[in-house]
Amino acid sequence: MEKETERKRDICELSYDELSEVVTGELSEKRFRAAQIYEWLHKKKAKDFSEMSNLSKELREKISEDFVITVMEPVEVLRSERDGTRKYIMRLHDNNVIESVFMRYKHGNSVCISSQVGCRMGCSFCASTIDGLVRNLSAAEMLWQIYAIERDTGERVSNVVVMGSGEPLDNYDELVRFIRMISDERGLNISQRNLTVSTCGLVNRIRDLADEGLQITLALSLHAPDQATRERLMPVARAYEIQDVLGACEYYYERTKRRLTFEYAVVKGVNDNREEAVKLARLIKGLCCHVNLIPVNPVKERSYESPDKRDVYEFQATLEHYGINATVRREMGRDIDGACGQLRRRYIEDAGICAD
Ligand code: SAH
Repeated sequence: MEKETERKRDICELSYDELSEVVTGELSEKRFRAAQIYEWLHKKKAKDFSEMSNLSKELREKISEDFVITVMEPVEVLRSERDGTRKYIMRLHDNNVIESVFMRYKHGNSVCISSQVGCRMGCSFCASTIDGLVRNLSAAEMLWQIYAIERDTGERVSNVVVMGSGEPLDNYDELVRFIRMISDERGLNISQRNLTVSTCGLVNRIRDLADEGLQITLALSLHAPDQATRERLMPVARAYEIQDVLGACEYYYERTKRRLTFEYAVVKGVNDNREEAVKLARLIKGLCCHVNLIPVNPVKERSYESPDKRDVYEFQATLEHYGINATVRREMGRDIDGACGQLRRRYIEDAGICAD
């Protein structure tokens, strides 16, 4: 039984055109059936073929011989009393778990999704990378984080940030498939302008993304105003000169005309002083961008400390003095535990799944 399920294809993985081909080809059905099935999967977020009430029983059985539907079950949900934030641990079909977050803003609901189980980039302040990469998520598993949250909250999601565990550009093909499907008007139809992909800066992949003809926002995890500090915080920076990373970002802007976001995790005593703010302003001057300052979330396995609030606001003021637009990231769900991959780690440790 297990084996049989493994062989079956995940129907949520198919784009509209691919599904149409399957429906008219191997299933020998009329094309309009594809529209019905796609709507059940990607608008109504069906968990089972039996929900598809406008298809005949025979057709539902025929499809389920070859295909399965990705289903993602929240196994733990933490709800903030303060601001409506919900943090989810989702279980995947192979029992891996990932983290996704729902946040309520004035302009709409936003979801932060994971793109991989674990991560292999090794950023020294990040909890997601501690046990390395387990596996990539499929496009369907990225979609289903949002579907599961819409099902749980009963609310529409209007913004998506790919800022959870994993490096999205290290899972490039599935990421691009996900972006096209989540913004497909026959599915959830979330505007590409409301999608943000955050990357640690894989130069060639940023350039590839720029050429995809998408309208998403690119967020670069810059975190330092110079090569040496960046390497200290992010081992992946050793593979790319900071100027080449910024060059790729500039290319992204030229191709898409989308304003760039630079993320800067502020770490006490490492990158939080005034000189560093001045250096950063000089480094990115002239780029159409804004800086998002993220006071670092201390991770128990790491020795980094949160910066003083005053230093963060001074850093922001210095950037603005030099004409760089900057914001300090508001912490959501402060009353519920676990940020940036820490919730997943705690869950795994509590369940005794962790190898270490
Ligand atoms: N791999 C991608 C996306 C995932 S991380 C990237 O590097 O951008 C999303 C953002 O959260 C990144 O800017 C990352 O550096 C930041 N982040 C990770 N751990 C953090 C922590 N402990 N405190 C503050 N920001 C953190």
